[in-house]
Amino acid sequence: MTVRERIHVVEDIRFQDHRSPAGHPERPERLRAVSRAIARDEGRIARIAPRMADPVEILRVHDRDHLAHVERAAARAPIHLDPDTYLSEASFAVASLAAGSTVEAARRVARGEARSALAAVRPPGHHAEADRAMGFCIFNNVAIAARALQQDEGLAKILILDWDVHHGNGTQHSFAADPSILYVSTHQFPHYPGTGNFAEVGTGKGEGATVNIPMPAGCGDSEYLGALQRILAPIACRFAPELILVSCGFDAHRDDPLASMEIGRNGYLAMTRLLRELAEELCGGRIVFVLEGGYAESGLIDGTTALLEAMLEETPPAPDRLIQAPSGSTLHMLVDRVAAAQSAHHPEIGTP
Ligand SMILES: [Zn+2]
Repeated sequence: MTVRERIHVVEDIRFQDHRSPAGHPERPERLRAVSRAIARDEGRIARIAPRMADPVEILRVHDRDHLAHVERAAARAPIHLDPDTYLSEASFAVASLAAGSTVEAARRVARGEARSALAAVRPPGHHAEADRAMGFCIFNNVAIAARALQQDEGLAKILILDWDVHHGNGTQHSFAADPSILYVSTHQFPHYPGTGNFAEVGTGKGEGATVNIPMPAGCGDSEYLGALQRILAPIACRFAPELILVSCGFDAHRDDPLASMEIGRNGYLAMTRLLRELAEELCGGRIVFVLEGGYAESGLIDGTTALLEAMLEETPPAPDRLIQAPSGSTLHMLVDRVAAAQSAHHPEIGTP
């Protein structure tokens, strides 16, 4: 691995074989946009070969019935698993390829064979529950990778940051009672899927290992960066993860048709710089970005370009150089409300 290859990428033309019904926002063209952005940095990135997930890996997160149901249903494709989530003929294989490629990216980073990684996969995963597909998601790629890191690579503590504009209900529920996986989510609220309010902090031994930052519509670069600086960063420092997984949707972009947030390219650049800095400080730079949503091609291109730029910079400047210091009352309200909901678990919230 050379210094230039700070990030390894896994992508595959076969991800486009998950074919959507006409007019569906989760369509193959999304990944073509991501691939175009990746191609601009060809020569500065390294590649990871995609692979199918082993059923054993999927079954650490999903019920056997769900796995069997998806396989049987795909044989009768085209078919819908819920009003939003469809299967085409190749979808079972493609969903397995998305999960397996995410595991592979995470494993390479855990073993030090890659410093960081981007898994440009589809279908997305964070809405998929243990027992069912949901919200365009079939298997929960990030949750499956987190379990693989623990059970195959011996990692103990993993941080999942979910900055997709939607709440990752499936990921939250997979680890609600598990203190070894810290799930932090920024998302538009109220919005689909309806979960992710402040008071959802985890259950039993997992109380405090779920941190929700539900944000009102209209938040942009400064609110997002401020939330990461003032809520995520202090929690992450205390938790001390061994690797950071990012549920990396680009649907909080201002052009996205499915949500009402206002992040632009500079926002994603600053947010990625902050995550890179956190990963370098806390876990030897080990961070894996996994594509979730993002339904405007311009948003996917902006997000992917900014992410790669921030990960490939020789010496990243301070994350907030591009963004005006958050001044509005929205950020203060968010920090106060998360701090109140988490007061028994995270007294560090809000400290600079
Ligand atoms: Zn989303």
